[in-house]
Amino acid sequence: MAYDTNNIFARILRGEIPCKKVYEDEFSLAFHDINPQAPTHVLVIPKGEYVSMADFTAEAPAELVAGFFRAVGKVAEELELVEPGYRILANAGTNAHQEVPHLHIHIFGGKPLGPMLVR
Ligand code: AMP
Repeated sequence: MAYDTNNIFARILRGEIPCKKVYEDEFSLAFHDINPQAPTHVLVIPKGEYVSMADFTAEAPAELVAGFFRAVGKVAEELELVEPGYRILANAGTNAHQEVPHLHIHIFGGKPLGPMLVR
């Protein structure tokens, strides 16, 4: 799938749309989800034009792949989610109902999340 440079997260990365930022470094940006599904619901996105995890892991430079995953770990740590626990999730494609075509990892936490749902 070709990358749409006007998707909402690309526009957030360019500063055209505001976000509630929680973390940023040279590889990634993390911000609160606009429609939270848990008391803490943060999205972490890589700085680069990648639609999905498949795309990212195949095409991104190793430094960016490492930097992005380190950022996910750092955000969980900074939000004090590590000890109580948290969930990460990345939707990819139609069956997963991916809405925004820029790779993002959801971080959910802040309460017991129950078993993972698969319907
Ligand atoms: P997904 O279904 O995995 O593609 O999820 C997209 C997520 O992006 C949803 O949880 C939306 O609530 C969230 N979202 C959409 N627009 C924004 C925005 N402008 N700022 C923050 N989160 C957003």
